[in-house]
Amino acid sequence: MISKPIPYGRQHITDEDIRAVIDTLKSDYLTQGPRIREFETKFAGYVGAQYAVAVNNATSGLHLAATALNVKPGDKVIVTPMTFAASANCIRYCGGEVVFCDIDKDTYLMDIRKLEAMLKASPRGTYKGIVPVDFAGYPLNLEEFRKLADEYGLWIIEDACHAPGGYFTDSKGKKQHCGNGCFADCAVFSFHPVKHIATGEGGMVTTNSKELYDKLCLYRTHGITKDPALLHEHHGGWYYEMQELGYNYRLTDFQAALGVSQLERAKAGLERRHEIVRRYNEAFSGIDGIKTPFNAADAYHAYHLYVIQVADRLGLYNYLHENNVYAQVHYAPLHLMPYYQQLGNKKGDLPVVEEYYEHCLSLPMYPTLTDEEQEFVIEKVIEYIKQ
Ligand SMILES: *Cc1c(COP(=O)(O)O)cnc(C)c1O
Repeated sequence: MISKPIPYGRQHITDEDIRAVIDTLKSDYLTQGPRIREFETKFAGYVGAQYAVAVNNATSGLHLAATALNVKPGDKVIVTPMTFAASANCIRYCGGEVVFCDIDKDTYLMDIRKLEAMLKASPRGTYKGIVPVDFAGYPLNLEEFRKLADEYGLWIIEDACHAPGGYFTDSKGKKQHCGNGCFADCAVFSFHPVKHIATGEGGMVTTNSKELYDKLCLYRTHGITKDPALLHEHHGGWYYEMQELGYNYRLTDFQAALGVSQLERAKAGLERRHEIVRRYNEAFSGIDGIKTPFNAADAYHAYHLYVIQVADRLGLYNYLHENNVYAQVHYAPLHLMPYYQQLGNKKGDLPVVEEYYEHCLSLPMYPTLTDEEQEFVIEKVIEYIKQ
């Protein structure tokens, strides 16, 4: 028996992390100090993007991205239904209309063939953009999405909250990291404690466009700038201008210090996640009735989640919880949330994601999961499936 409950995901805070936060608390800056810039620079380097903008959470980051891309009331945007609500809500904050596109039955990502069919079925200009998600950490092939987006004049916000460090291999054999800005206009990451890098609340928007970067920075801070090159008038050193209706979406300096410290272990964390995956896959390989995650040979999965599918998901969920294993479901399809149903979506609209939801279960997956704990999880899963 295990002594304490095993969650599906959790943060890992080391003594170095704590020291980094305390050092910042004793410094001159609590917000918008040197740790913010350091975190942005190092994170941009980690994912291979030119610009990164730290924000107070990924939901704010998604809203900033949608705002910077000029989403306006009535704009139609295509979003995957297999995601956390914020991926679609950011479009609603701007008054846009969310149209859902079903997922691929194996990768659980937005199905690009269905996306293409949707685009073909409507006059050009019907849709303004798309929000696909690197769901569970599986990297989207954004080269293909970009081709389609260009053909139809769409922007792309990549919701990469599950996938820092993941990459796909493009048609030229080049590794393309999630959120590197080569194909998507903006990408968004989360530093919520269940994600790869934890800062409490926190997020990052990456882009390779200087124009979008400037807008993201402006909207992050009330639409206010002090940059002499951007000011309309010059009154003196105190003078700033509010040029747009922006927000306060800033991250604190001590959270950025935690982010910098966590980022140093990000690669090691991914490797540990892959070890855990190998053990799960091996243990379940000979078992009928468990579908393990799809893994393409040319992609490096970031494994935020390890999702299996089983016939009796509710039974397995309850059995694991009785045994202190807090497996979780990701996610109830977004189009079936009461809010999105009230906007015209209904059961039966998206058969693949609805079928997936009947069977999916996320097993514990985080770098500090011990071998002993994982053995226990595996034992309980197999026990239930075989009974
Ligand atoms: C966690 C998450 C978000 C929201 O992140 P916050 O930092 O909590 O706002 C958005 N999209 C996806 C896919 C997520 O997993």
